Amino acid sequence: MIIELKKGTAPAKAELMGKALEAILLQEGDKQLLITPSALKTAPEAYASDIEKVYPMDSDIQLASLQYKKEKREIRWGRSVIGGSHRNAAVIAGPCSVESKEQIRKSAEMLVELGIGTLRAGCFKPRTSPYSFQGMGLEGLKLLAKMRDEYGLNIITEVRDSTHVQAVIEYADIIQIGAKAMYDHGILRACAKTQKPVLLKRGFGTTLQEFVQSAEFILSGGNPNVILCERGIRTFETKTRFTLDLCGAAYLKHFTNLPVILDPSHAIGYAYGVPDLSRACLAMGVEGLLIETHPNPKVAKSDASQQLDHPAFTQLFGELKSLAGALHLNII
Ligand code: PEP
Ligand code: MN
Repeated sequence: MIIELKKGTAPAKAELMGKALEAILLQEGDKQLLITPSALKTAPEAYASDIEKVYPMDSDIQLASLQYKKEKREIRWGRSVIGGSHRNAAVIAGPCSVESKEQIRKSAEMLVELGIGTLRAGCFKPRTSPYSFQGMGLEGLKLLAKMRDEYGLNIITEVRDSTHVQAVIEYADIIQIGAKAMYDHGILRACAKTQKPVLLKRGFGTTLQEFVQSAEFILSGGNPNVILCERGIRTFETKTRFTLDLCGAAYLKHFTNLPVILDPSHAIGYAYGVPDLSRACLAMGVEGLLIETHPNPKVAKSDASQQLDHPAFTQLFGELKSLAGALHLNII
């Protein structure tokens, strides 16, 4: 249950009530909220004089629920905005990993040419083998910062573990929490303490309830700027890398107040299917797409099979723009 306290409630009193109810006390703008487990359905009578409003909840999807906030949250970074009453769809693109000065510069230049404002590339890669390329680390973050300075691009990059969480928070405009880190509470709690937007990817073996509850850790810890990213779940199918859960995306759209971004690249795992999937994803009316593109995918150090080369990405981007027109969406 979310309990909104009356404006004048003294913070010390709010804290005491929070302790008694085993609730999280959250300052949201000028509001003080107590968030209890959703099993609590009525507030204690003794607190009535301090309570403005109560929101009984069906489950522990609480701050992220449309039962609590009726409109999509508006999320801003740089000059970009998604959610709220905007009909914007962000195309977030770039190579899987920062690999070299030349590679990331070519990537940045293509995005600028197309009018895309956000460059995404990983520097700390959560690989499934310790013998694969692990990312350029801090050196990669510095290259991304250079691209931001030179081209005015916003940067989204991934935090893999607690050893570099502060560095990623400092360098990134949007912090990506990858599928394998969705349950990393050190990362979730660190991301709750910044106000920068966080793109939280769904773990490929997690339910929608577990996914959105991970977002609740960030929201209830004080950061209201969370974007959900569906990137495919593991099923019995082996022909594609994962199975993009568009039913799940429909659920997230219908029941949560968080913007949703779909990632066709990691879902299918093969470049041939990315254009078809991207058009389908945009047609769902989500807040954006995450698409991997590399100047020369054949030599990419990670996710080589799924990255579009620049001509293929450019063609797809043109198609997405035409489709967006028909859907009354603006591609940003
Ligand atoms: C990535 O975005 O490059 C990545 C590693 O994705 P995921 O966490 O979805 O596997
Ligand atoms: Mn990747």
